[in-house]
Order: sequence, then structure tokens, then C-alpha cells
Amino acid sequence: MRVAVLAGGLGGSRFARALAETIPPADVTVVGNVGDDLEILGLHVSPDLDTILYTLAGLLDEGRGWGRADESWRALETASALGAETWFQLGDRDIGLHLVRTEALRRGEPLSSVTARLATALGVEMRLLPATDDRLRTRVRTPVGELSFQDWFVRRQHRDEVDGVRFEGAETASPAPGVLEALVGADLVVIAPSNPYVSVGPILAVAEIRRALEHRSAPVVAVSPLIAGRAVRGPADRMLARLAGGTTPAHVASCYEGLIDALVVDGADADEDAGIRTIVAGTLMRDAEARRRLAEAVLAVPV
Ligand code: GDP
Ligand code: CA
Repeated sequence: MRVAVLAGGLGGSRFARALAETIPPADVTVVGNVGDDLEILGLHVSPDLDTILYTLAGLLDEGRGWGRADESWRALETASALGAETWFQLGDRDIGLHLVRTEALRRGEPLSSVTARLATALGVEMRLLPATDDRLRTRVRTPVGELSFQDWFVRRQHRDEVDGVRFEGAETASPAPGVLEALVGADLVVIAPSNPYVSVGPILAVAEIRRALEHRSAPVVAVSPLIAGRAVRGPADRMLARLAGGTTPAHVASCYEGLIDALVVDGADADEDAGIRTIVAGTLMRDAEARRRLAEAVLAVPV
């Protein structure tokens, strides 16, 4: 069974890991969000792709939910002492990866190709593709004005309410090589339990990707990132309340109208009508057993 997954960082990577532990990783293609990407201190950072790589390679700092375990911060301390802005945290080991990526991009290598090399070097068997090789950046509209994604999320710690999002560059962005083939060739497409607006939104903003889901032949299933109306982490619940009008399964499903055939919700939400085929499963991926059960529930959807 071939599976394609649309994924952001934390929820996306946890779900990718759940699949990697349940079916042959070679059967899975993960399409990752690049709307969070940024250039900082001369480095090109792809936070969501890196969270997935580090998770699948067993290198993630699980407590923080980003960056590498066993990290040190000497380079950033030095930069700070020399007067650089250091609101975006980069550990020493992490910087090593950004150096390799940045150098390759500067040579003209596409992001998808660099990402594939990094995955292979880290022993990651699952295929990880950026949604696009083109420049695509999430911009967030807030009461204090429009902010770049990381300015809002990291520097201002997503304290500003969000009135809307837009994806700079999306109009002209093409899917990265392999993305459409993975979506069209899949027996099942899964939208991971990621933030619908700022993790999955930028992927679906690539017109050909959205069109592939609209004209799907295989089932598309989304896993809700909310449990009992609350995000496991991050601002997804606040964003849904403000932008979709609520945080029930129906509100989550409304983010993917016309794109999904089923929604997987947690047992805590079993009584809510999502207005679409609903699969109830434990969706909190707290350990290997929980991940496996969720993966099995999702993989049973086409049956
Ligand atoms: P980000 O780029 O790190 O913000 O990553 P995502 O958008 O992929 O992940 C954030 C979302 O993942 C949040 O809305 C969380 O509620 C959700 N999430 C994280 N862990 C879990 C989990 O174990 N189960 C479910 N259902 N959602 C999760
Ligand atoms: Ca992200």
C-alpha cells in the first residue's frame, strides 16, 4: 500500500514516525511544508522538513519538539556576543545541517534534491519531499500588522491573534519533482494532524497539489490536530476558533472542504458530528503503542 502524507513539523513528524513504525518506510512519501522556511544569519533553515528528518532519524529533542537532542549553543552565543540577532534559536549540531543545505542551495541545487541527500545521509528511508522547490513564505495578518511567519511564531511567540494568512510565492509555485506522482500514485493520502492554516495551508496553496486532491481517485483522510477542542501544542485551537468559528471536528473538516473523504478524531470527540465520514481512534501519539494504533486506524480507511 502506497501512502502519501501532507505534513507540518511536530504533528506531521509524529505521524510520519507512526507510519514508519507500522509499514515499510519505502512505501511512504511525506510532502513537507516550506512556508516556515527562513534565511537567518546567512543560513537557509527549513524547520518543518528538519523536524521530520530529525524525528525519523531518531535525533529530535523530544522535549522541545524541535532541533536535535544533545545540543549545544556555542555558535549562537558567539553570534549574540558579537551583536547578532539570536531570537531564532539554532544549536551547534543543527547549524551543521543548515551549512550543508545553504551551501548546496547557493550552488543551485533544488531544495528537494538537498533534502533527499540529507535524508539518505541520516539513514532516513522514508521519502521526504518539500511541497515545492520554489520560494513560498507564509505571512500572517494580525492586529499589529502583517508579520513573516517566524516573526509571529518564534519572535513574538504567536501571541498575536491571526486574522488571516497568505502564502507569498504560492501563485507561481510548482510542486517539487515527485510530489504529484506520489499523490496520484498513492492508495491513500493522509493529511497529518498538523496546523490546517500554517502547516497544511501552505502545501495546499500550491495550486497543482490542491487540484490533485480535488481530483483524487484514492481516498484522502485527515487526522485532527485537536483533541476535545484543544491543540496538543501550539496555536491551532486559537486559530480555528477565530478563523473557522469553533474547534469541533466539523470546524476542522471545514478547513479541508472538498479535499477529504474522512476525518480521524480522538475518542474524546466521538460524539461530535463532523459532517463527513468519521473514524474514531486514540489520536494522541504519546508512545510507540499509541502511534501504531493510530497508524493502523488510518491505514484501514480505504478498506
Ligand atoms: P509545527 O510545524 O511544529 O507547528 O507542526 P504541525 O503543524 O505539524 O504540528 C502542530 C500540531 O500538531 C498542533 O496543532 C498539535 O495539536 C498537533 N499535534 C502534535 N502532537 C499531536 C498528537 O500526538 N496527536 C494529535 N492528534 N495532534 C498532535
Ligand atoms: Ca511549522
